[in-house]
Amino acid sequence: MTPQRPPNAPPAFHLLAKPTGAACNLECAYCFFLDKEAFYPGGTFRMSDALLERYIRQLIEAHQTDEVAIAWQGGEPTLMGIDFYRRALALAEKYRRPGMRFLHTMQTNGTLVDDEWAAFFKEHDFLVGISIDGPRALHDTYRVDKGGKPTFDRVMRGLRVLQKHGVDVNVLTALNRVNADHPLEVYRFLRDEAGTTWMQFIPVVERLAADGSRLLQTGTTVSDRSILPEQLGRFLSVVFDEWVRRDVGSIFVQTFEATVGNWLGMASSGMCVFNETCGLGPALEHTGDLYSCDHFVEPAYLLGDIGERHMIELMASEQQAKFGRDKRDTLPRYCLECDVRFACHGECPKNRFVPTPDGEPGLNYLCPGFKQFFHHVAPEMQLMAGLVRRGREAREVMAILDRAFADVNDDDPCPCGSGRRFADCHAGRRARDPS
Ligand code: SF4
Ligand code: SF4
Repeated sequence: MTPQRPPNAPPAFHLLAKPTGAACNLECAYCFFLDKEAFYPGGTFRMSDALLERYIRQLIEAHQTDEVAIAWQGGEPTLMGIDFYRRALALAEKYRRPGMRFLHTMQTNGTLVDDEWAAFFKEHDFLVGISIDGPRALHDTYRVDKGGKPTFDRVMRGLRVLQKHGVDVNVLTALNRVNADHPLEVYRFLRDEAGTTWMQFIPVVERLAADGSRLLQTGTTVSDRSILPEQLGRFLSVVFDEWVRRDVGSIFVQTFEATVGNWLGMASSGMCVFNETCGLGPALEHTGDLYSCDHFVEPAYLLGDIGERHMIELMASEQQAKFGRDKRDTLPRYCLECDVRFACHGECPKNRFVPTPDGEPGLNYLCPGFKQFFHHVAPEMQLMAGLVRRGREAREVMAILDRAFADVNDDDPCPCGSGRRFADCHAGRRARDPS
């Protein structure tokens, strides 16, 4: 039975369901999720049909909005087979309220995607996220199968099948210690060779406990696969410089879109990590266990079993509300006084495990990288936000930059209005030929 809606229940949220739990056909070296198998010893790692129905019904009942995201992730969700998702679609239809629309998404490693999968995704308007870490050598550094074999060819085959069928695809690139040193190589590969127009760059931060384990998020050191903060700042800045000169409006880089959103003062940037609070991205395990977030699938963040308590009650619980508020309420003073806090908000709490320069705990490990990036993009962000506020398109920034920089000498004041010499400010953008 549906319980009475708690007054503080969120009207909508973005739940990631993991029908295979941590089970995957690959074994990417940096994958934080593979270790989660340890929480379910002897588990089946397959969501039962009974749980599938309970999940879809509760998800729909919990939403007050017309649009409901039904998002599948892993592990590797295609291991469930297509029929599982056909049943999920039928159940969504069964419980759909009048006027309700579904946004179907799946994050996959792409290796098992064939014509049948792609036709299915197309028929049902799925948005499919596929993980690619760059061109062959960079992708194969860490994205390997259980036998340690490279996966680039299998992933690209999956991507091409999706593209052949006209499926909406976005690419997720995990930025690690190796590929992060090659920003233009990665970006141009994704844009020009993979032919993708939607990109997510996710920094790999593998936090290690004193015994070297990464199962629980403790400890203050990271693995040698983890990106360095300075690498992240440079990667994002270099890609941004190319994007802002030629790709605004045609290539969507999630970090840049979210940054524009925060420069515009929007209530939500579209990326939880850059919002002031969080807590609207719970994760559902194959057993029915609901956790506060995909990045906090560990016992301390278990909200409960949706077989015992309705999802809406778990989402409205004080435990989850506090989880979301803590993102804002536990910021160290260093962040509170930071000039780019409105854009960063201390990023994700999972990465806050280093001391600030004055010794306060809880600073984001990636802080120097984000700070550098937000400072670097500030002039163009200001310009794009100004355009959008005046009802114009952000993409006009490209023509403005071209014109603005055409005849400027190094010693002139920079046209962006920073007050600095052009040579010390935007001259680098003009000099760089992105073609
Ligand atoms: S903990 Fe991090 S990933 Fe999870 S919802 Fe909050 S900001 Fe997002
Ligand atoms: S850039 Fe650093 S100091 Fe500023 S809000 Fe982000 S994590 Fe905090």
